[in-house]
Amino acid sequence: MTDEFSLEESAGTRSAFNRVVLDFANGFLESLEDQKAYSNRKSSLAEADDWLGIDDSPTSLEQILDDFREHVVDRGLNPASGGHMGYIPGGGIYSAALGDYLAAVTNRYAGVFYASPGAVAMEEALIRWAGNLVGYDGGFGGNLTSGGSMANLIALATARTQKGIHAGNVRQSVIYCTPQTHHSIHKAIAFLGLQECLLREIGVDEKFRLSVPALRARMAGDVQKGLSPFMVVANAGSTDTGAIDPLHQIHELCEAYSAWFHIDAAYGGFFMLTKLGKDRLSGLGYADSVILDPHKGLFLPYGSGIVLVKKLKHLLDANRYNANYMQDALNADRHSPADLSPELSKHFRGMRMWLPLKLYGVGVFSEYLNEKLQLARYLYGQLQKLGFNVLCEPELSVVVFRYEVGPGGHDTLNKAILEALLKDGRVFISSTILQGRYTLRAAILSFRTHKKEVDVLLELLQQITSELTGDGHR
Ligand SMILES: *Cc1c(COP(=O)(O)O)cnc(C)c1O
Repeated sequence: MTDEFSLEESAGTRSAFNRVVLDFANGFLESLEDQKAYSNRKSSLAEADDWLGIDDSPTSLEQILDDFREHVVDRGLNPASGGHMGYIPGGGIYSAALGDYLAAVTNRYAGVFYASPGAVAMEEALIRWAGNLVGYDGGFGGNLTSGGSMANLIALATARTQKGIHAGNVRQSVIYCTPQTHHSIHKAIAFLGLQECLLREIGVDEKFRLSVPALRARMAGDVQKGLSPFMVVANAGSTDTGAIDPLHQIHELCEAYSAWFHIDAAYGGFFMLTKLGKDRLSGLGYADSVILDPHKGLFLPYGSGIVLVKKLKHLLDANRYNANYMQDALNADRHSPADLSPELSKHFRGMRMWLPLKLYGVGVFSEYLNEKLQLARYLYGQLQKLGFNVLCEPELSVVVFRYEVGPGGHDTLNKAILEALLKDGRVFISSTILQGRYTLRAAILSFRTHKKEVDVLLELLQQITSELTGDGHR
């Protein structure tokens, strides 16, 4: 077998490969300024399918990367672009990629303490840091997940175990949420067999925050009917609008009714690193469980979520199992990540988060997050000057707005605005439905989004609205 086709490359081949990959990565990063945030280029999908197919024959790394660029990188959404302001962006910092590289090269087994005490200790250090950040002070547990959806699933499974929900009482158990609740919560409810719980969607105020009087009345009414409040799911930065529910008051109600208090802080949580965020998110630490997404607020590449549970024991009760072939891994005083999540083998995902935090320190993340908060305020003001109806002052860094100039319903008009934006492609934003109407939303959270990118969005919006409405606003 020649070296070229061997799975154990020589040092020479490795450095040749490294050069090719690094050239590609550098080329990609250095041309980001000129890349679109969104490309709806209609190249032949059949061609891509053909290229993606696996067969017996080897291909050169150069050819592979050429095709990768053509069929993968240059199509669709570009989450690495600072122009990405759709959904919830993050960007993907380079140092996290280096962490991933080292995690994969060393291939440490981060599932059980016995296999890699160091990798598990690293994960624990990150959980400790994140727990302290949300305001927990000891006795808590957590797990690094693939993202917010898995984190919500683990949190809700823990709530189910802890509150003893089973076939006999599921129909009397009530879950409270709002129309702003992320759909991954509803997926988790379905996965966990909790659809038979009563699900109460509590109304929201003008800033899309849970109405406490409505929740209070509903919980009292339910108890009167002989039902049992099981869990309240609150948002600490909803995906749609960035709404932060009144965490203190919800906590009091959860205490009064012995309900599990879950907070979804996937988007908002890391704003705890800022002064404004700390003020607005105070109360996160009341949660029985809370989730965060480092691939949003810490700008990591996709594939990083965190679930935190106030009492480690609750997380263990819901996740720990034993098997004969695992007996060597049993450890009396150290828990393994595999005891705290459905996953056994998993990517050593601590490294991609730990390396950047260690390399740069936490302060620089705070600075970037502060900049995003300021940019959102800037966008809020400028959009109003352009004649947009901005639905509410941004709580964090999501701005929701509609163009309502001219007669009739404005759904078609706003859809046309989004279409024109995507056609240009320099900036990507997305849409939602609020108050029953089509609404545009810009989420500023990529570490690469600065004033320049926001100004491109504003210029485009001004241009597009004046083209669509004749002379536009001015
Ligand atoms: C993004 C998000 C989720 C889902 O997280 P994924 O990482 O995409 O699985 C859940 N809740 C909120 C509020 C989010 O913003």
